[in-house]
Amino acid sequence: MIEIIKDWCKGCEICVKRCPVDALEMSDELNKRGVYPPKLKEENECNFCRLCELLCPDFAITVIPDEDEKPVESKSRLIIGGITNEV
Ligand code: SF4
Ligand code: SF4
Repeated sequence: MIEIIKDWCKGCEICVKRCPVDALEMSDELNKRGVYPPKLKEENECNFCRLCELLCPDFAITVIPDEDEKPVESKSRLIIGGITNEV
């Protein structure tokens, strides 16, 4: 799920232009700032990468992955003095 606080959006379109799977588009509904905030396309391939959330300069987007659609967590490895420990 993508939560967009529409009235915080300033319409810069960074999120739309930078989404790696082209999942967002600008809506046709003006917000209180007089701009068109983004929305998820009806058919989209959002993979919850959170790039839009991280890039939005106005903190208007929060990405909340569905429980069963969470990306597989990869294990990071900490290598200390030749010994490999999974953390
Ligand atoms: S979370 Fe990633 S894939 Fe989904 S809309 Fe945002 S940038 Fe696009
Ligand atoms: S990056 Fe943020 S401020 Fe810019 S269009 Fe997207 S939601 Fe609006």
